[in-house]
Amino acid sequence: MTRFENKVVLITGGGSGLGRAAALQVAKEGAKLVLVDLNKDGLEESKQEVLAVAPEAAVELVEANVAEEKEVEKFVQFTVEKFGKIDGFFNNAGVEGKQNETENYGIDEFNRVVNINLNGVFYGMKYVLKVMKEQGSGSIVNTASVGGIRGVGNQSGYAASKHGVVGLTRNSGVEYGQYGVSIKAIAPGAIMTPMVEGSLRQIGGENWEEVGKEFVSVNPMKRFGKPEEIGYLVAFLLSDQADFINAAVVPIDGGQSYKY
Ligand code: NAD
Repeated sequence: MTRFENKVVLITGGGSGLGRAAALQVAKEGAKLVLVDLNKDGLEESKQEVLAVAPEAAVELVEANVAEEKEVEKFVQFTVEKFGKIDGFFNNAGVEGKQNETENYGIDEFNRVVNINLNGVFYGMKYVLKVMKEQGSGSIVNTASVGGIRGVGNQSGYAASKHGVVGLTRNSGVEYGQYGVSIKAIAPGAIMTPMVEGSLRQIGGENWEEVGKEFVSVNPMKRFGKPEEIGYLVAFLLSDQADFINAAVVPIDGGQSYKY
């Protein structure tokens, strides 16, 4: 018996990085999957990678924007129609946004980033919690960030949205524990995904790899995290083994957030 046999897991941002890594891990352990992303090609690639490690896996792909409430309602409905329930929800899609000092960050950019990273997570919780409350079971993992528990700098929209994700996790965890539903957040440090590469390119252009080396030189473990390390953590947090972890934020950053 594996941890995700007969379990249904819904993942946003499933077409890349951390969402894909979590999909691979839970699929290896028997999960039926619905992967949501804006990026159709990314979704197809994720499906191929999942089928390579779990040939029997049921994998449904949905192209949708988490910042559009109606689209979120639809993919949650789709998951329930297709598989009858939702056991785990990795509420993960997000963007970093342009880096700039607060006064120059820009209202449009601020609204864009908050709309995806915070409103998107809220919409996901709104619709999935209704399903899980009725079931009397379920686990949600929201993706926050070190930028959601510490000041990082030059990331007003990202910091506001990720601190908001932590707030939503604590608030709703307190509300829904009584229904057998647990809600947690993860706070990753720099994990080497396309998002982090993009961020390093914003700072260093062609020299982004050098910038990356300098960036991790201050991490206690002197390296970037690996997407599969997030996959292991998320799989544990979505599994029944982590039912009593609720309204909690779990850092996964090599210890960096304790150094700032
Ligand atoms: P990524 O860019 O590799 O993957 C993010 C995925 O989300 C992409 O496939 C993208 O198409 C999708 N997405 C973006 N906006 C969307 C929208 N509006 N609707 C649907 N899908 C959308 O990045 P990642 O590193 O895997 O990031 C995943 C999450 O982890 C994000 O919330 C990010 O803020 C968070 N995070 C990442 C790191 C890191 O170091 N990689 C650290 C802390 C937090």
